[in-house]
Amino acid sequence: MRYVFPPAPPVSLPVAGSDASFPVRRVYCVGQNYADHAAEMGADGRNPPFFFSKPTDALVPGGGDVPFPPATSNLQHEVELVVALTGGGADVEPSRALEWVYGYAVGLDLTRRDLQLAAKEKGQPWDMGKGFDHSAPITAIQPVSSVGHPARGTIWLKVNGQPRQHGDLEQMSWKVAEVIAKLSTYVALAPGDLIFTGTPAGVSKIVRGDVLEAGVTGVGELTVRLI
Ligand code: MN
Repeated sequence: MRYVFPPAPPVSLPVAGSDASFPVRRVYCVGQNYADHAAEMGADGRNPPFFFSKPTDALVPGGGDVPFPPATSNLQHEVELVVALTGGGADVEPSRALEWVYGYAVGLDLTRRDLQLAAKEKGQPWDMGKGFDHSAPITAIQPVSSVGHPARGTIWLKVNGQPRQHGDLEQMSWKVAEVIAKLSTYVALAPGDLIFTGTPAGVSKIVRGDVLEAGVTGVGELTVRLI
């Protein structure tokens, strides 16, 4: 194949305990999947899950130094459990959905909240609020063979050592299997797809120079410095 310019390099994530990498195809995210965060965003009840996407090359494997993004004065953190899939296709049965999970990671859904809220008000797309460069720092993937399918466990985030988010995976309104099944009614899931599964309450504004530490018990921890 002769290209008019060199194609972008493939995006992949390290796999804990392995020298093989997980090649990423697409990055999906669930909105408002913890009741306490839905409440702080002005929603109520156990609404059906809804989805948005981030560009695959928005991932920042391993975290570390992350450039503060342009065009915002209200950048916010959302710590999330991330599901890594080996496939699935369309219309996955909830009872079989976990068979398609390769492993789990911890990710940050960095959000330009001012742009997201303005888009919400006008009925415009969220892409520029959610899908910007470097908007998805993420740990290595822990394979199911080492960590199973974590259904409970602390999910937390600190800014400059101060606790900001603290929840438990069991608070997820829609469980991992339900999220996979519902998403597969909209798009065919394929090997390499990631799903960010939503964040608990406590999202807050962060600024250049802040150090974010985040984790999910049994899955991993991530450190990010905004530069
Ligand atoms: Mn999120």
